Amino acid sequence: MKHSPLAAIIVVASIASAASCAGGSTSTAAPTAADANAFLDTVDTTFTKLSLDANRAGWVGQNFITEDTEALDARMTQALADAQSRFAKEAVTFDHVDVPADARRQLNLLKVSLSLATPADPKEAEELTTLVSSMRGVYGKGKWCADPAKPDRCLNIDDITKVLASSRNEKEIRAAWEGWHTISPPLRKDYQRFVELSNKGAKELGFADTGAMWRAKYDMAPDAFTKELDRLWDQVRPLYLQLHAYVRMRLHQKYGDVVPMKGPLPAHLLGNIWAQDWSNVYDLVAPASSDAGFSLTDIIKRRKMSALDMVRAGERFYTSVGFEALPRTFWERSLFVRPMDREVVCHASAWDIDNLTDLRIKMCIDQTAEDFSTIHHELGHNFYQRAYKDLPIVFRDSANDGFHEAIGDTIALSVTPEYLVKIGLLDKAPDASRDIGLLMSRALEKVAFLPFGLLIDQWRWQVFSGAIAPADYNRGWWDLRLKYQGIAPPTARGEALFDPGAKYHVPDNTSYTRYFLADILQFQFHRALAKAAGCTAPLHRCSVYESKEAGTRLNAMLSMGVSKPWPDALQALTGSREMDASAILDYFAPLQKWLEEQTKEQPVGW
Ligand SMILES: [Zn+2]
Repeated sequence: MKHSPLAAIIVVASIASAASCAGGSTSTAAPTAADANAFLDTVDTTFTKLSLDANRAGWVGQNFITEDTEALDARMTQALADAQSRFAKEAVTFDHVDVPADARRQLNLLKVSLSLATPADPKEAEELTTLVSSMRGVYGKGKWCADPAKPDRCLNIDDITKVLASSRNEKEIRAAWEGWHTISPPLRKDYQRFVELSNKGAKELGFADTGAMWRAKYDMAPDAFTKELDRLWDQVRPLYLQLHAYVRMRLHQKYGDVVPMKGPLPAHLLGNIWAQDWSNVYDLVAPASSDAGFSLTDIIKRRKMSALDMVRAGERFYTSVGFEALPRTFWERSLFVRPMDREVVCHASAWDIDNLTDLRIKMCIDQTAEDFSTIHHELGHNFYQRAYKDLPIVFRDSANDGFHEAIGDTIALSVTPEYLVKIGLLDKAPDASRDIGLLMSRALEKVAFLPFGLLIDQWRWQVFSGAIAPADYNRGWWDLRLKYQGIAPPTARGEALFDPGAKYHVPDNTSYTRYFLADILQFQFHRALAKAAGCTAPLHRCSVYESKEAGTRLNAMLSMGVSKPWPDALQALTGSREMDASAILDYFAPLQKWLEEQTKEQPVGW
């Protein structure tokens, strides 16, 4: 459900470290405002060209997977990453030049755009980029071989994911969970060196460490941002505690004392390798009255809706709130159906090839409710992209990195039974007694995720700052998992292991806070849009379909891109400059009440 690289530019910087001077000037005189302008012009033309190349190569690479398209894609992506790294370093040279506010913001965004800053020393820079690709490779090739004598029986991440999702045999699940965590100990030493070198690069750019560089993207002092996240978590924690207590009770009924009556949940029994999404144990915890009263998947199949019909319906959602229809090229160039004649990357994504109007989605659509909702999500990216297309290219991105994913999900929250009635897919919306099942399945995905979404970067920030020393990598990890998720490993985990490395984003060096923010923001957006639409139903039953008022609010925010600090963008949509997790509590209020009844005889917390 994630969109792929858009214009902005998230990739790892490479060895390019020699900062050439702005605007081609080679003099050593102090740079001027005119130099800064010339530099920003160069940035604009360079990014426009390189990201067009990279997007085209990426599109072809994912639509026609061959050795050659992969190589072309890698080369174009690297060219863009090199330019990004060069510009980030060059932007620093204008730190003390007096420039207009717009130019200053562009320079700042360039400076904080990297997820990895390579040190100026070319040898160290090369060592660092090599380390990152090697860690990524180790993870990508990770396999667990229960019996080394039978290499054809080894399990990769997809196989292990399936075991965790569908097996109900505790021993088998535990073996698979432990098995996956055998891929990461070899990464531990590399990760330690990676931390040293990336911190060195970040310091050269003026940041305290790599974690501080990541937190600098959020228009706040890095420490204030950390506090802000904890504030948001404290708001939703009571709901999480209820969900945790209820799921523990039900899993105890299923698995016995492996799941204690009180204390933390065992990490392996939540249906997911990292216990970040509990949807796969829905059948074990479903309320007795869990039937939603209708099946959208059945309706889509019965109506024989084609993939194109489903996308048309998604587009109609956006035009109904006032957005212009998608361009002709969207329909000609998108991929909607899995091709029979070639390998493609089917993972749903939204693209903006030319950073203007060449919008596309790439999906292998099935006739399911899930895909119907995903279409609404992906189109959210496309409408965001088009809304900010007239800004300088550095501003063509979401207000912070949580906003892009949040928008797609916000619209998906409007895919309610009432909406399905309005568009003629359902005759009558089921009554409120059917809501608990739906809310439960949504909570297992979105509420269960929150502490995990928060703790990955809590761990990394402490690792980068040195608060968690290399000798304590694994203990620091499990301390945080206990503190936030209330989860404990099924067996003792020593420092010979490296459990954080068994999560993709750690070896891949992708920051994770965006997912936490997106999870919080989508409910805040949904509540504000529902209010603008005049919805008086319970929040989980509100759809903003056909509300021009909601569309106007939405567009006001989307069209700002990242040209202003995110509180400005938030205010344009919600009227508030503060993130607020209380919308999650509003949305899940009927579920929380129900959970409290279920757990009133039970311990809550761990
Ligand atoms: Zn997405």
